[in-house]
Amino acid sequence: MQKREKRIILCLAHMSGNEMKYIQEAFDQNWVVPLGPNVNKFEEELKRFVVSPCTLTAENDLQEETYPKSIKPHENDPEKLWLDSITDAKLLDKQVVALSSGTAAVHLALIAVGVKAGDEVVCQSFTFCASSNPVVYLGAKPVFVDSERETWNMDPELLEKAINDRMAKTGRKPKAIIVVYLYGMPAKIAEIKAVADKYGIPLVEDAAEGLGSRYHGRVCGTFGDYGILSFNGNKMITTSGGGALVCPDEEARNKVMFFATQAREGYPYYQHEKIGYNYRLSNICAGIGRGQLTVLDEHIAHHRRLAKFYAEAFKGFDGITFHAGSDSELNPAVGAAAESKTLSNYWLNTITLDPQLKIKGEENAYRTTVKGAVGGAAGVIHYVDSAHTDCEPNANVEALRMWLDSLNIESRPLWKPMHKQPVYKDSPAYVNGTAESIFKVGLCLPSGPLVTLDDAQFIVDAIKDAVC
Ligand SMILES: *Cc1c(COP(=O)(O)O)cnc(C)c1O
Repeated sequence: MQKREKRIILCLAHMSGNEMKYIQEAFDQNWVVPLGPNVNKFEEELKRFVVSPCTLTAENDLQEETYPKSIKPHENDPEKLWLDSITDAKLLDKQVVALSSGTAAVHLALIAVGVKAGDEVVCQSFTFCASSNPVVYLGAKPVFVDSERETWNMDPELLEKAINDRMAKTGRKPKAIIVVYLYGMPAKIAEIKAVADKYGIPLVEDAAEGLGSRYHGRVCGTFGDYGILSFNGNKMITTSGGGALVCPDEEARNKVMFFATQAREGYPYYQHEKIGYNYRLSNICAGIGRGQLTVLDEHIAHHRRLAKFYAEAFKGFDGITFHAGSDSELNPAVGAAAESKTLSNYWLNTITLDPQLKIKGEENAYRTTVKGAVGGAAGVIHYVDSAHTDCEPNANVEALRMWLDSLNIESRPLWKPMHKQPVYKDSPAYVNGTAESIFKVGLCLPSGPLVTLDDAQFIVDAIKDAVC
């Protein structure tokens, strides 16, 4: 096969063309600060989105929409609730605070539920480090819990075991539970929430990767006490860098806002009784976010379109399995009524490789160490002496990554579970082997609005060609 002229990137948010209008407004009004009209509007629109009823399917062609259905104001009365079908009053209480990153949102969620130095926080192990690092920022201790096989997210039974064991060992309950929507896939949130409620432990949903995913029709990030959203450049939508915290109500929102703006007391001069943070989103970035919200539904639909394509392409192909997870359209085993569907945003589409599958060039996997950041990741990486660690993807997975790379297709191994990370080697972990075994066989494929169906066909052909 001939390599593609233009590199097919794993995932990059795509501009809608509406962003400049909001940015221009901010400049015109001289609102170039981390607060202002775009920030307020962005929060309002995000709230509309997170409490919106289900409008999406893989079939939806939303190209015609200039404003996403899910946050469109009511035609006759803009103030009227777009929310006619919503019965859960608690959902309507939700408030969204726009922040400088998803990581900041995790940090503030933990502060909001009262996590202090020395406390324990239960966190899904199969995740990106931003889920658990803020636990350490606070001087608290992460306790990792492994995943179940269907969704790759926190195993509710293991969660309960972990809580009981922590109580037996420390005499105290963990202060919070952080569940993650890995690659956007809805977790078994009803079961997890039941455990959290049973023990009275606050639940934080890290929906940084799961913006717009739905569990039984309801947006992920609205089930727990707090929900994390991320608008980093590689997520579902971007503000160039940013995030948001979905809060349970007005009071919680005010508390989060207080800590996000350096914890200032009500005096004419700076008076501080608490340690605060500078975590508010810039009004310019919020302008980008508002532009991005106009294509959010369309982007979700496109991620799902690609998922459907990959799922079909690997159906019946020996040795490669598409991860359909808990999605009730792509995993027929799940099944559900239209309004209560569980839908993944398929932020990243993932496959797993049978360990027996032979990939061309497998003998050269891990021969050299990584030079330059994998996939153009930001920042610098530490160069390493050995290409191996004690827990790494199988050689056929690495060979497939290299094969695709040579054809100018970016792919990436799954996130290495936190309980296998050297930095967390001393953290307690409740493990059933799932995350580690999936990490060794999985690969993320290009996803998102910049990947065309034609690109996806090329990627599938390249993968099938790589098999010996
Ligand atoms: C991206 C991500 C975050 C953090 O978001 P940033 O906006 O990059 O700080 C948190 N958790 C998970 C699982 C993520 O993938």
